[in-house]
Amino acid sequence: MSEYQQFINSISADVIEENIRVSEPISNHTFTKLGGEADLFITPSSFAEIQSVLKQAKKFNIPVTILGSGSNVIVRDGGIRGITLCLTKFNQISIKNDVITAQSGASIIDVSNFALEHERTGLEFACGIPGSVGGALYMNAGAYGGQISDVLEKARVMTRDGEILTLSKEDLHLGYRKSIFMNRDYVILEAEFQLNRGEYKMIKQDMDEFTNARKSKQPLEYPSCGSVFKRPPGYYAGKLIQDCKLQGFRVGGAEVSKKHAGFIVNIDQATSKDYIDLINIIKGTVKKNFDINLETEVIIMGEES
Ligand code: FAD
Repeated sequence: MSEYQQFINSISADVIEENIRVSEPISNHTFTKLGGEADLFITPSSFAEIQSVLKQAKKFNIPVTILGSGSNVIVRDGGIRGITLCLTKFNQISIKNDVITAQSGASIIDVSNFALEHERTGLEFACGIPGSVGGALYMNAGAYGGQISDVLEKARVMTRDGEILTLSKEDLHLGYRKSIFMNRDYVILEAEFQLNRGEYKMIKQDMDEFTNARKSKQPLEYPSCGSVFKRPPGYYAGKLIQDCKLQGFRVGGAEVSKKHAGFIVNIDQATSKDYIDLINIIKGTVKKNFDINLETEVIIMGEES
């Protein structure tokens, strides 16, 4: 019996069968519509399922890759070996006093809307960030002057041994698109956001303004992973790329967006190789013209084909 089959047998009492898929195309789970197959694609909906997967994966020495909504990743064309643990079914949101608790697979847009419904202010900036709570913490996502670190109070995480830890905001070392999660193998389980009471009309007004700004500036009509590069100190990546006259430049089906130069759009059945080759061309051109090293914000993972 293969190692994967033994692993599946070992979790079968804890994990619902429909939450386990074999050879799943990851392109179905990424915003770019890119990526090869995941050997095992598991979508747990409870603490117990996550714990069982992590413990047994450790026992069988199978690597585990975490995926949220797949809005900030490029998965290479060869896919992901071992287990891809996708948390989008683990998505409860609740409120107590001024604290909203959200499981890591909840969409941060849903959390922002939940805050609006409960007339709590602080998460308006997140109303158009198309990721999960886990991905938003991992990236310290932000927009329109706000970021996760402004409102996060605590995070609950699971170690690869299945142990649950509670970490304070300070423990997470949140910076510009940076967090401790980039250096530790934690699975983010839950986040607590400390918000303030606000007025529905004012909160909604800000959210509408951010949504309109996003629609007018971003190429939301095409698959993409948002801004590909981090903002280099003192510059805007999009402006540098625009000044290099790269808008509209294509590699295969991947194109530097004509609407927002910081985005690469999947215009015509791009491969991950197209995307990564284009990223390297952009980096090289910006370096040559401005002597600035662009760093990717997007996380590149998986195997080459
Ligand atoms: P994924 O892409 O699934 O994963 C990103 C990283 O987080 C991976 O390394 C993954 O392993 C890790 N991860 C995810 N969940 C967990 C978990 N539970 N535990 C441990 N690690 C985890 N970002 C902004 O900051 N601001 C914006 O305004 C913005 N606009 C965007 C607009 C568009 C159209 C798109 C496509 C993207 C945009 N993004 C933006 C990028 C993206 O939405 C954010 O980075 C988001 O926070 C990523 O969340 P995700 O769940 O999609 O993460």
